[in-house]
Amino acid sequence: MTLEEQDKQYVLQTYARDYTNFVKGVGSTLYDENGKDYIDFASGIGVNSVGHGNETLTSALCEQVKNIIHISNLQVIEPQAKLAQKIVELSGYDMGVFFANSGAEANEGAIKIARKYGETKFDAKRYKVITLEHSFHGRTITTVKATGQESFHTPHFSPYPDGFSYEKSIEDVYKAIDDETIAVLIELVQGEGGVQPFDKEEIQKLAAHLKAEGILLIVDEVQTGVYRTGEFLASNLYEIEPDIITLAKGLGGGMPIGAVMTKHKDILTVGEHGSTFGGNYLSTSAGLAVLDVLSKLYDSGSIDETLIYFSQKLQAIAKKYDHLFEKEVGLGLMRGLRANNAEIQNAVLENTFKERLIVLKAGKNTVRFLPSITISKNEINEGFKRFEAAISSL
Ligand SMILES: *Cc1c(COP(=O)(O)O)cnc(C)c1O
Repeated sequence: MTLEEQDKQYVLQTYARDYTNFVKGVGSTLYDENGKDYIDFASGIGVNSVGHGNETLTSALCEQVKNIIHISNLQVIEPQAKLAQKIVELSGYDMGVFFANSGAEANEGAIKIARKYGETKFDAKRYKVITLEHSFHGRTITTVKATGQESFHTPHFSPYPDGFSYEKSIEDVYKAIDDETIAVLIELVQGEGGVQPFDKEEIQKLAAHLKAEGILLIVDEVQTGVYRTGEFLASNLYEIEPDIITLAKGLGGGMPIGAVMTKHKDILTVGEHGSTFGGNYLSTSAGLAVLDVLSKLYDSGSIDETLIYFSQKLQAIAKKYDHLFEKEVGLGLMRGLRANNAEIQNAVLENTFKERLIVLKAGKNTVRFLPSITISKNEINEGFKRFEAAISSL
């Protein structure tokens, strides 16, 4: 039985999956079973923030594995406490952290905090959460309902929880707020929706309005967090102070981890939220190693250099191939080329993989780039050489 046959027979087929068998990764280069190299501009959808085989991360994991992988959250967990402190310090916000295992779970935690806040802080219960069209917040029944894309709300999974509505623009959010609204949940740069950043001033104005109204601002930083936009959090870049922030993808460098942090530290009390695996020794040791690597790179100015270099390359391509791409979009190392149409998007993706370069799609017509934060200049150069080879005939 081939690997493909095995996968098709035994794994539920929920993904449109490619069957190249990768067996090794070094930095931002992946190797398949035949030893062929691929440049990785996707980093496992923004997860491998320090690339593959990073020395600091792998040795931290090996050390931790030999000691304790997991005990329950009924015991204090030293790397968990340290990671919470590190996240809070890097963010600059006076918050407390709860650890989960994924982005969707972190968002579930955020919604629970908001719901309880709405239940206890007002005379009449508030429970409604406003999100934006084209947003993506996860795949659980609740977070899929929070996701502002109708195609995700298939009747197959109904009934969904009540209390979610979607607005076309930030301007529309103001009008949608009523006396049952408790929170606005937003990605500052919509990732899956098409690598679309919101305008900084518009967000600052909304944040100020929500604060004045006593309504919570929840920022979903599952994709934008952990230096993806150049700052530790996109909220730092936008210079806002959210009530609740969620993290996941890049935080564990590949170890499953999610986090919800809030300045409303006393809302959830003992027994009201929990997770068996969340914040265990292994995942939080990974988080500590990742933040150690990335905070040093940030301080040295090297993350800035990388994102400027990457963006210049993309801008040059957008200009040179303007019959394919409308423009370059995104922030930091969360970038996209907006293709002129979906056919071009698909052709670019197909050709790119043939040239052994891994990129992603987003929205209806965006080619998405989420390289690891530690990607080298050489890997960027090689990746774009392959990208040009892939698109030059289109
Ligand atoms: C990926 C993503 C999620 C979902 O994270 P999972 O770990 O797949 O549950 C939620 N929000 C945003 C913005 C994401 O990019």
